[in-house]
Amino acid sequence: MEENEDSGLGNIKVVCRFRPLNQKEKEISMQTCVDFSPDKRTVHVRAQSESAEPLKFNFDYVFDPSSHQSSVYDVAAKPVVESVMQGFNGTVFAYGQTSSGKTFTMSGPDFTDQDLMGIIPRMVGTVFDQIAMSEEYLEFQVKVSYCEIYMEKIKDLLEPSKNNLKIHEDRIRGVYISGISERYANDDQEVYDLMALGLDNREVGYTNMNAGSSRSHSIFIITISQSNTKDFSSKVGKLYLVDLAGSEKVGKTGAEGKRLEEAKNINKSLTTLGQVISALTDGKSTHVPYRDSKLTRVLQDSLGGNSKTTLIVTCSPSPYNESETVSTLRFGIRAK
Ligand code: ADP
Ligand code: MG
Repeated sequence: MEENEDSGLGNIKVVCRFRPLNQKEKEISMQTCVDFSPDKRTVHVRAQSESAEPLKFNFDYVFDPSSHQSSVYDVAAKPVVESVMQGFNGTVFAYGQTSSGKTFTMSGPDFTDQDLMGIIPRMVGTVFDQIAMSEEYLEFQVKVSYCEIYMEKIKDLLEPSKNNLKIHEDRIRGVYISGISERYANDDQEVYDLMALGLDNREVGYTNMNAGSSRSHSIFIITISQSNTKDFSSKVGKLYLVDLAGSEKVGKTGAEGKRLEEAKNINKSLTTLGQVISALTDGKSTHVPYRDSKLTRVLQDSLGGNSKTTLIVTCSPSPYNESETVSTLRFGIRAK
């Protein structure tokens, strides 16, 4: 797979991934509502009426339902982690409606299964492989943090009593989450253990995970520092791996109270994310609205500039989810 498949948009790549039909969707219809072009860049959403034209969406890469986790990693994540190992910042996002495959793509159903592991464990593997292969005069340190943003509040998933962390900015550190736990890790397994610990501490525990996790953004942060013992130089790269809150619209009539507040917060932060990415890709905007949401503010130093970013939009291929799929694809297109 070629690495330089960016469509001339500098450091921001937008790809989309369709998961296979699930059991419930198959019961409604074995058909999908999408067609994939052989060049892996275009997806068509079939028109529902005969007179209408199909909708066409272009991306830097389109993964159809048969795509393997390793191909998604090669295109969407490998260039990012390689750049972070060189001392730059990087971000990978998964955006899509609940159950579209964000967590499958980012973490995978099992992060110790070589075949099924998602982007995060694969990136972690690359980090430690590259450290093992590096020159002897380079010394590396790997640190991990894990937080979630729920209702515009930042909670430390490695130390959940810290549930309202603040964002600070100074000249040396740039923008950072003040007081967030940072744990050193010496190998893959130590990072996987921290991922598991964090998952346990999410807003809603394992029992109701999908319902709970779909209302918050989770951010897994890996910081890689290297010092060169020959010339005494040093470099730091930060990697932000973001499993976003579900992008689905909450029914206007059904939602009230807490559910409506959640929906407003999610909508605002995802809209701001779209605006930030599109301001960065169009190259003309003088104002990038990082400060309009906690999410974009946290990510400020790793979006734009020398940072490498991939936005992965995840979709269901079922006609049942067509309108959410179309709005997800539109979000991806607007971000380009
Ligand atoms: P989300 O995080 O967007 O809510 P999940 O990643 O939890 O969605 O995916 C919903 C379900 O679909 C899970 O059971 C997951 O294992 C399955 N799934 C998602 N993507 C794929 C895929 N590409 N291949 C096979 N199963 C998938
Ligand atoms: Mg999920």
